[in-house]
Amino acid sequence: MKRILIVEDNKTLAKLLAKKIELSLKYEVDIAYKLSEAKLFLKKYTYFMTLLDINLPDAPNGEIVDYVLSKGNRVIVLSANIDKDFRKQMLAKNIIDYVNKGGVDDINYIIQTLQRLEKNQKHKVLLVDDSMVFRKTMKNMLENLLYKVITVAHGEEALGMITAHPDLSLVITDYNMPVMNGLELTAEIRKEYTKTQLCIIAISSNNDEEVNALFLKQGANDYIKKPFSKEEFSCRINNSIEALENIQYITNHASRDFLTGLYNRRYFFDNMYEYIEDTKTSGEKFAVAMVDIDNFKQLNDTHGHDVGDKVIVCISEILRTNTSYRDIVARFGGEEFCMVLKNINKYSASDILERVRQEVEGFNFNLDANTEIRLTVSMGVSIHEDEDSLDETINQADMQLHSAKQNGKNQVLFN
Ligand code: GH3
Ligand code: MG
Ligand code: MG
Repeated sequence: MKRILIVEDNKTLAKLLAKKIELSLKYEVDIAYKLSEAKLFLKKYTYFMTLLDINLPDAPNGEIVDYVLSKGNRVIVLSANIDKDFRKQMLAKNIIDYVNKGGVDDINYIIQTLQRLEKNQKHKVLLVDDSMVFRKTMKNMLENLLYKVITVAHGEEALGMITAHPDLSLVITDYNMPVMNGLELTAEIRKEYTKTQLCIIAISSNNDEEVNALFLKQGANDYIKKPFSKEEFSCRINNSIEALENIQYITNHASRDFLTGLYNRRYFFDNMYEYIEDTKTSGEKFAVAMVDIDNFKQLNDTHGHDVGDKVIVCISEILRTNTSYRDIVARFGGEEFCMVLKNINKYSASDILERVRQEVEGFNFNLDANTEIRLTVSMGVSIHEDEDSLDETINQADMQLHSAKQNGKNQVLFN
């Protein structure tokens, strides 16, 4: 578990902050009330983050900051001091943030900052700048925000990196660079990735007024003018990443079924119409399987709706784990699912679906030690041929499912 050290001589504030962090982030929190106590903690533990008050009984002028930094720790400064020069002096050090303390809003901001840093660790950022000095400074700032950072010196190199790292979240690019400048790079990236798939932030100098507009027109999400402060840099980067996360969250939820996390009907049809267009050129065949749990009503009546829900989730899991990442498993309605096995022939499809049927049959959905629940599923399958429409293939599969039910259930029937 990650550990946080709070050094703060106001005991009420320190305890309140510790409690909030423990609750919302599940970190282990240690509290020291002065520098000498903090030194002992730092000897004993490794910390994910330290939150430091700069006015302590035995270190009244921020002396603790240099000490903790010198030991290789990450620092967020807590301060009630709004003196501009002092703030600037602190921010010039290699600290992560300088935050106010005291009010409830301030504490919430600290929690949000920690949550942001926690999430940042999952994001990869590509930094494109021909100046080694700038690259180094910005890399350091990004790593302080806990992003994973890759650096390159010009646009062409950047394009190679983007292909090699499809999981990138953000590209930060300078304007003036040899080989390919930032604007050309932005245009190239936007041929492949939309604003909601990959963020671009442009860095430009103060005298390129029209360049900023051009960057935005080419599809950059934001721009930062040189010279910039560390705080502006952090805020703009974090804002763009947060917007990206929000859009991905909404997109993901709009396409998924709430109970099982499987795709919903809407996503299924959106994805399939696109896929069918591709198969017209590639000639690829695929299988559509309609899957329905047998005698499910009886299970609900005997054990209740909640148990029914849990069983639906278990069966979803079996369907999902038996398919590849390219396939689609969707929940169409209550206890009915549709699986699409892509690029497959009848024999391989039969192997996979028969395995699923057997796995469900052998699964014990036991609620507790005394209750054993056994279930089966029926499936109707159709292999899509070039000239068929999606609706026709689904109808064929549906008819086979109906026959499977009539035939005594717990079986896979192909057309
Ligand atoms: P068959 O073997 O012919 O498929 O019979 P069945 O009982 O499985 O099918 P039927 O269509 O008669 O009943 C389906 C039941 O599934 C009725 C409904 O209450 C229940 N159901 C539908 N959606 C949900 C759900 O989200 N959760 C739970 N627990 N039950 C659901
Ligand atoms: Mg104090
Ligand atoms: Mg059923």
